[in-house]
Amino acid sequence: MQKRFTVVGAGSVGIGVALHLQQRGFRVVLIDKSLPASQTSYGNAGVINASSFMPLNNPALLGKLPRLLLNNHAYLRYSVPHIVKNTPWCYHFLRACTRRKSEETCRALNALCSGALDEHRALMQRCGNMHRLSQNGWLKLFRKAGPLQADSKEAAVLDAFEIPYRAVSINDIRDLEPHLKPVFSGGYLLSDSSSVNNPAMLLREYVEQFLRDGGEFVQSSVQSIRETVATGSGGFTLEIGNDSLPAENLVVCAGPWSADMLKPLGYKVLLGFERGYHQHFKLASGASLTRPIHDMDAGYILAPMEQGIRLTTGVELNHRDAPSNFSQLQQVLPRAKQALDITEPTEDPVWRGCRPTFPDSRPVIDQAPRHENLWMAFGHQHIGLMSGPVTGKLLAQKISGETPDIDLTPFNASRWVS
Ligand SMILES: Cc1cc2nc3c(=O)[nH]c(=O)nc-3n(C[C@H](O)[C@H](O)[C@H](O)COP(=O)(O)OP(=O)(O)OC[C@H]3O[C@@H](n4cnc5c(N)ncnc54)[C@H](O)[C@@H]3O)c2cc1C
Repeated sequence: MQKRFTVVGAGSVGIGVALHLQQRGFRVVLIDKSLPASQTSYGNAGVINASSFMPLNNPALLGKLPRLLLNNHAYLRYSVPHIVKNTPWCYHFLRACTRRKSEETCRALNALCSGALDEHRALMQRCGNMHRLSQNGWLKLFRKAGPLQADSKEAAVLDAFEIPYRAVSINDIRDLEPHLKPVFSGGYLLSDSSSVNNPAMLLREYVEQFLRDGGEFVQSSVQSIRETVATGSGGFTLEIGNDSLPAENLVVCAGPWSADMLKPLGYKVLLGFERGYHQHFKLASGASLTRPIHDMDAGYILAPMEQGIRLTTGVELNHRDAPSNFSQLQQVLPRAKQALDITEPTEDPVWRGCRPTFPDSRPVIDQAPRHENLWMAFGHQHIGLMSGPVTGKLLAQKISGETPDIDLTPFNASRWVS
């Protein structure tokens, strides 16, 4: 009899885990309170860029801190009460800005991300949705020299990891994206970077394939998880509404909700929230954008999507469920309009999501410390759309006793799960 796995959370990570467990012959039930990919995995910038391994909390952040503490930069905002309530997370997040810690994270995430595009491509081939992928790079652009342009340090990291990129001049920018206005003085093109034109649809199409291959999707909110037999080796019971669902083997992939979900099982998880927003805009007649661009000085990304041009914001450190604060979006919108002829917003509402982030900016991909039938995959911060499928592969390899493609020690649970 095949083992049965229940995966909670149908975001990029949970979908990746479900598909890879299924590929190894397990029976898999995927549960989500909403439609698949309705939360963080819905609203990201759609970038699949293996070189996005440099964490936000790198040594350069400390240099930018005096400026960022003014709490008026689009790159990073914070809620003071949230920071005060979450000093352990903030303390460890800032401690990880040392060169040694940051390099450790770069190496770990580089290993994780290096197989990410291949995994997406393999899934797209299986699902017949390769048309969603554009492989024409990601433009990181600077307006002028300034304090935040110290990000050319990123170039040094790209060199160290032998990531292909090429510096672009004003003329290059015009050739690559003729409809960008001449506000940028230069930048670089990450030529191996790819992007997708609708992250939620991409992932929902993966789920359709999972269903065609015999997987099961249950749309229900998991209110609580308890051990069926309190021994650490038995299964679990998921409370869903007035009903309950047995789960012999459980994988928690609930992104920013994962810590809440694990609380009833006695786990304390030091997971933080980096919130972000997006809004879709129409393009003026005749204008176009063919790849995502990152306006490094103004702190936003513009990405061409099926729904329009998606303007995504930087980081807001605040509780997952606190009311929205649109100030970053309002701040970057005029700057985005300087760069590209976007006109009115489409009818979609402004979207808010929440990057789930551990203090060292590395996800947990591991067995739970005290339950042999419980597994964890969450905390993918800014790179979870890209690394969901590869995470699924690595965890499925570990679960099924294969040697994972990469060393999973940097992603162990004991770092932040007690
Ligand atoms: C503005 C922004 C831009 C980004 N850009 C990029 C990018 O360009 N490239 C990239 O790779 N990443 C990007 N990211 C990061 C990426 O979106 C996340 O890392 C990723 O989506 C996390 O996936 P996940 O599956 O862990 O979480 P989620 O997608 O949030 O999935 C968790 C799931 O758990 C479900 N769930 C929660 N509680 C329950 C419950 N009680 N019962 C049942 N189900 C439950 C939720 O409904 C949800 O579907 C961006 C993020 C933001 C916010």
